[in-house]
Amino acid sequence: MTAQLIDGNALSRQLRTEVSERVATLRAQGHTPGLAVVLVGDNPASQVYVRNKVKACHDTGMHSVLEQYPASMTEAELLARVDALNNDPTIHGILVQLPLPAHIDAHKVIEAISPAKDVDGFHVASAGALMVGQPGFWPCTPYGCMKMLESIGYDLRGKHAVVIGRSNIVGKPMAMMLLQQDATVTVCHSRTADLKAQTLQADVIVAAVGKRNVLTADMVKPGAVVLDVGMNRNDAGKLCGDVDFDGVKDVAGYITPVPGGVGPMTITMLMVNTLESAERALA
Ligand code: NAP
Repeated sequence: MTAQLIDGNALSRQLRTEVSERVATLRAQGHTPGLAVVLVGDNPASQVYVRNKVKACHDTGMHSVLEQYPASMTEAELLARVDALNNDPTIHGILVQLPLPAHIDAHKVIEAISPAKDVDGFHVASAGALMVGQPGFWPCTPYGCMKMLESIGYDLRGKHAVVIGRSNIVGKPMAMMLLQQDATVTVCHSRTADLKAQTLQADVIVAAVGKRNVLTADMVKPGAVVLDVGMNRNDAGKLCGDVDFDGVKDVAGYITPVPGGVGPMTITMLMVNTLESAERALA
């Protein structure tokens, strides 16, 4: 292996310790940052995600509320809960776990969250703020990727970054964050004509597709930084990313593993956003 591993677990531990310290400072002043997590339905993966988010709040000393509702909840009922949380002064961050049942318009629900409490960074106001470089909440997964680059002291100025995937929650905001740090950014997607021709030009590659082996060793320039956002299962049912880790680790300069890479950073950045929301509310 030539690539150095960027350890998302270790970086998360370090960042969560810093969050805990800032939370303790706020609590000493009588203010506890609070996150509300709303889950509708009984999607097993969502149940694991929300439990992990609530646990992270507990571990960092934050207040958390987990609201669980049956899949039969109506859109109007959910919008009413969001409205109540918008007006609850003990809550600084609101997260509605996606996906929502098909009869609920997820976009309408996200837009109902106050941008001041949009710690997932999915609101159009948050996306707009990122686009124009104004303060707002950055979506947690690409934000975590930026922290990983920062942790290795990587200077993006003038570098060529290729983002594979253009979703609203990962690919597009990732591209904007890299651009903001003066990288030259190419965004690839399912209609990109020659993905390998693009990735071979890249100093930094972020793979956010959701398909195994989208990035293989022959597609990577020696020494490139490879961040793997994907979460997939291999034939043995084991968690794996979008990157052929065993091949790419011999070519890349840095690489994130799956599991233990970008995954833990996502919840960590949710804690960071919730803390910052509480700090902003006091400012
Ligand atoms: P998504 O909404 O399904 O978007 C996938 C993107 O990949 C789309 O833009 C799609 O292009 C593109 N794509 C599909 N096949 C491709 C191909 N063969 N070559 C190039 N691009 C291709 O997924 P997402 O929500 O962004 O998530 C992406 C992956 O990250 C998933 O595995 C998800 O589980 C994982 N994820 C992980 C975390 C974490 O915490 N680690 C958080 C969020 C997501 P089109 O736009 O043309 O369809």
